Amino acid sequence: MIDLRSDTVTKPSSSMRAAIASAEVGDDVYGEDPTVVRLQAEAAAVLGKEAALFVPSGTMGNLISVLAHCARGEEVIVGDEAHVFYYEAAGASAFGGVQMRTVPNRRGAMRPSDIEAAIRSPNIHFPRTALVCLENTHNRGGGRAISLEESRAMAEVAHHYGVAVHLDGSRIFNAATALDCSAATLASVADSVNICFSKGLGAPIGSAVAGSAPFIERCRKYRKMAGGGMRQVGVIAAAALVALHEGPRRLEVDHDNAKIFCDALGVTSTIETDPDAVQTNIVVFRCRSSSLEPEALLEKWREAGVLVNHMGNGDFRAVTHKDVSRDDVIEAARRLQSV
Ligand SMILES: *Cc1c(COP(=O)(O)O)cnc(C)c1O
Repeated sequence: MIDLRSDTVTKPSSSMRAAIASAEVGDDVYGEDPTVVRLQAEAAAVLGKEAALFVPSGTMGNLISVLAHCARGEEVIVGDEAHVFYYEAAGASAFGGVQMRTVPNRRGAMRPSDIEAAIRSPNIHFPRTALVCLENTHNRGGGRAISLEESRAMAEVAHHYGVAVHLDGSRIFNAATALDCSAATLASVADSVNICFSKGLGAPIGSAVAGSAPFIERCRKYRKMAGGGMRQVGVIAAAALVALHEGPRRLEVDHDNAKIFCDALGVTSTIETDPDAVQTNIVVFRCRSSSLEPEALLEKWREAGVLVNHMGNGDFRAVTHKDVSRDDVIEAARRLQSV
């Protein structure tokens, strides 16, 4: 089986398992796990922020960031294809009493003028706009890397009106690789950033939120409230440290493999691809001639030994990662076509 559903399906490498086995640990709710302390310091440094906090998942990282930025009854401006709006079960609304206001995502970015038009003026009828959320790379935008210029333009509008900016950087190292800059540079436009160790970097579990020291202290409280305070969690943080050290420089291979997969997939006329849109490790494609429903097609592909995801509206998504090789992606394209 060649599994291209997500870069989350990777298994920990032998160096990660060795790091897990020998991890120094303590009770992290008391701030006494040396491996977590080290991971947080390194994550903050890599992202150019004052402090960072280890969290179990990206969803929790985004949730507690929104809670730490917004009071109940306040509003967050977010792209209509953003992960935090689309895939996080309305957590910020359910737990935080925060209203999400969408503006159109155009291949991952938002128009600064759309953001500006959505920012509320002071009025007794209106919620206060407390936060703008960005995402880089943009998941439903086909893994597009949002340039520093575009990111800055969106953030500047927010900051001009005194609105904070949170960056969902679950794949920020993919963006940095594609744009040939540092993750800190891309994160510099935002007040807070969330990163995932469990995506392309290859760790089994874990994310981190980074920002100013007072912001991270608020996040620590919300993490506890959400049940994310963990104890001898150095066993997981050790794997995340290996991911942080070894993961980013390997992402170029995933990006090359995504291009190779897209090219191999596009050679017949039955599958429609957009090679220019493949910037990182995500490939979005459509099947032109199939009379099968997407779910039925996924089942046929599974029988042929390839797993991909359906994003809705007939768009399929394949994601390259450390556990698939160049040969694997070429073989996967062949099997998808044969069905
Ligand atoms: C995966 C992902 C998340 C959430 O991460 P989990 O660890 O799966 O909760 C958030 N944002 C983006 C853009 C993602 O791709």
